Amino acid sequence: MDGKREALRPDTTLAPAKRPENEVYVRGLPACCLRSLKEAVVRRGERRLLELRCLSCGSDWQVTSSLDERVLERFVTHGGPRAGGKHPAA
Ligand SMILES: [Zn+2]
Repeated sequence: MDGKREALRPDTTLAPAKRPENEVYVRGLPACCLRSLKEAVVRRGERRLLELRCLSCGSDWQVTSSLDERVLERFVTHGGPRAGGKHPAA
């Protein structure tokens, strides 16, 4: 067992909260946002997050899809542009 693995699966996609049509893969994130994502994923014991807030650049990201269990455990996934409308799925 390798408990130190931090690499995230590359098939996770995120979109800016304000521009959900601009979806990107994890590797397309700015470095600071990727770091924030990793930090959020390794932090445990909290409720799932609706958005990723990057404390470095202030961007808000929503996870639109992921097959990475650690990401799914930490973030509510948003359906992306096709889902239409915003649900405050508290
Ligand atoms: Zn950032």
